[in-house]
Amino acid sequence: MAKIGIDLGTTNSLAVVYKDGQTVRIKNSLDSYITPSAVSVDEDGKILVGEAAKDRLISHPKVSASEFKRDMGLRKTVSLNGTEYTPEELSSLILKKIKADSEAFLGEPVEEAIISVPAYFDDNSRRATRIAADLSGLKVERLINEPSAAALAYLDKNGYEDGTYMVIDFGGGTLDVSVVDVFENIIEILAVAGNNRLGGKDFNEAIARDFCRKNELDYDALTPAERAVIYRASERAKIALSDIPMVMMEVPLDTKKLVLTLNNKELISISKSIFEGIREPVRKAIHDSRKKLGDIDRVILVGGSCKMPTVREFIRQITGIVPDTSIDPDIAIAEGAGIYAAMKNKELKDVVLTDICPFTLGVAVNNDLLNDGSQMMSSIIPRNSTLPSSIMKPYSASSENQSKITIKVYQGESIDPDKNLFLGELNLDCPPTKFAAKICDVKMTYDINGILIVDVFTADGLAKTKAFRSNSSVLTDEEVEQMRKKIEEAMLVSPEDEKYRALLARAERVYEESFEDQRLVLQRLIMAFKGSIALRDPIKVQQSYKALSDILDTMEY
Ligand code: ADP
Ligand code: MG
Repeated sequence: MAKIGIDLGTTNSLAVVYKDGQTVRIKNSLDSYITPSAVSVDEDGKILVGEAAKDRLISHPKVSASEFKRDMGLRKTVSLNGTEYTPEELSSLILKKIKADSEAFLGEPVEEAIISVPAYFDDNSRRATRIAADLSGLKVERLINEPSAAALAYLDKNGYEDGTYMVIDFGGGTLDVSVVDVFENIIEILAVAGNNRLGGKDFNEAIARDFCRKNELDYDALTPAERAVIYRASERAKIALSDIPMVMMEVPLDTKKLVLTLNNKELISISKSIFEGIREPVRKAIHDSRKKLGDIDRVILVGGSCKMPTVREFIRQITGIVPDTSIDPDIAIAEGAGIYAAMKNKELKDVVLTDICPFTLGVAVNNDLLNDGSQMMSSIIPRNSTLPSSIMKPYSASSENQSKITIKVYQGESIDPDKNLFLGELNLDCPPTKFAAKICDVKMTYDINGILIVDVFTADGLAKTKAFRSNSSVLTDEEVEQMRKKIEEAMLVSPEDEKYRALLARAERVYEESFEDQRLVLQRLIMAFKGSIALRDPIKVQQSYKALSDILDTMEY
C-alpha cells in the first residue's frame, strides 16, 4: 500500500511517490503529471476533473469550477448544474481523481497521503484540507507547509546542508515568499510573506490587454467568450516565451485574424507592476525573519511562473543571488510532500518540520495616552512565531479600584482591534486594584492544531482559562457526513471515457477559438468521433480519435 505526496494547488495539482530511493512523478489517466485543479459536471451528471474540466471552464462555464483552494475553510459554495458544492467537496473531487490515477499508475491501493498547504493557511483552511482528504478516502497523517516541502525537495537533491533558504513560490494566482532555516535535521520556517492576488494570471491578462490595445479593441467591452479566447492565446504566448525569444499570437475574432508579436522585453514593459509586486513580499519576508539579504544562502524557485526567464532575472536583480535551478519549479512541492511521506513511512531518515503562526494574536487594551476610551491592540504572540508558542504578558488596571477584567481576544495585524478578527472574550472578577498597578497576567498558548488557550492570572491567584478556535465557521459533523455521502456517490468518468471527453472538451474549446474554415474541419471531425463512439466500433474510435487530436495539435501551438 503506497503513501503519496500531493501538491493540491490553486491552479494545478500533482502527486509524487518515493520509490527505490528516489521520487517518481505520478502520471494521470491522460498521461500527464499535472492535473489542473478544475472540476466540471458532464451532461450525464458524471464528474470531470483536470484537463477536460479546465477546457470546459471556457465551453461550459456554468457547470465548471476552479480556484476553490482560495475559499478553503470559508462558508461559500458554487452551483454546478443546480447542485451546490463547497470548496472542501470540490477539493475532495480533485483528490479522489488523484487517488484513482495513482492507484492505476502504481498498480496498488493508495490510502494515505501527505498534502501540502500554504504556510499562511489558518487553522480553518487546514481543517478544510483534511476534510477534503477524508471525503476522498485518503488518510492524512500530516499536512506539510509548501515552503518546507520545497526545501525538502531541494535538500534531497543537493544533500542536506545547514543554511538559510529563501523559497519563492510564484504560481497561477498567488506569490508566497518564505525564509526557511535548515539546521541539523530541523527545517524551520522563519517567516512568510506574500500576495495572494498576484500570479501567472496577471501576466496573461497584461498580455491580453496589450493585445487588445494594439488591435484597437476594448478588452472590457468584449464578450466573455471573446475575452476567454484572447486570454488563452495570451497564456500560450507567455509559456512559449519561457523557451523561445519571440512569439506571434494569432487570434480569430469575428471574421478577422488579429495578430501580435511579443518578446520578453515587451512582456517586461507591459508587466511592470507585476514585477514590482514581487519586491515587497521579498523585503517583508527577510525583515520578518530578522535576517539580512546577505544571510540568504540560496534562493529556491517554485511554481509555474518561476519558469519565466524574466521572473528569474528580476529575482536575481532584487536579491543579488542567482536563483537555484536544480529543482523543477512545477513539481518541487509535490516532491517534497512525497519525500516527507517516505520519511513518515520510515523509508528515509525523518526531519523535524516546524509550523508558524501566520498572524498576530493579542488583546485589546485601553489607549492610555488618549484616555478617551478608545482601544488598541496589544500583541502577545507575534506573527511568524514558531509553534507551539506560549507567551505571557502583564497588564495594569485602567481605572481606580478596578475589580472586573474583560479580556477581548483578537487575531490580526492592525493596531485598531476593530480592524482585526475578534475571537472572543473572557470576563472575571479580581481584587480591587489601583489605577496603573498590575492587575493580571495574560498567557496565550497556540498549538500546531490551531487551538488558542488564553489563561488570565490575577494577583490573588485566581485564574480563568478559555480555549478559542482561530475562527468559528467550522463545519459540523453532520455537514461533513452529508458531504461524504455526496462525494462517495459522485461518479468520476472512467479513464477511458475521460480520454474521449477530454478530447471533445478540447475540440469544443478550440472550435470557439477558431475561424470559420477551421470550424468546418473541426465540426466534421467532431461528428465523426462522436459517431464512432456511439457505434462502439473500437477501430473507428481509434482512427477518429487520432484524426481529431492531430488536427487540434496543428491548430494550437
Ligand atoms: P498553483 O500553485 O497556483 O497551483 P502552478 O505553480 O502550477 O500553480 O503555476 C501555474 C502558473 O504557471 C500558470 O499561470 C501558468 O500559466 C504558469 N506557467 C506554467 N508553465 C509555465 C512556463 N513554462 N512559463 C511561464 N509560465 C508558466
Ligand atoms: Mg503551487
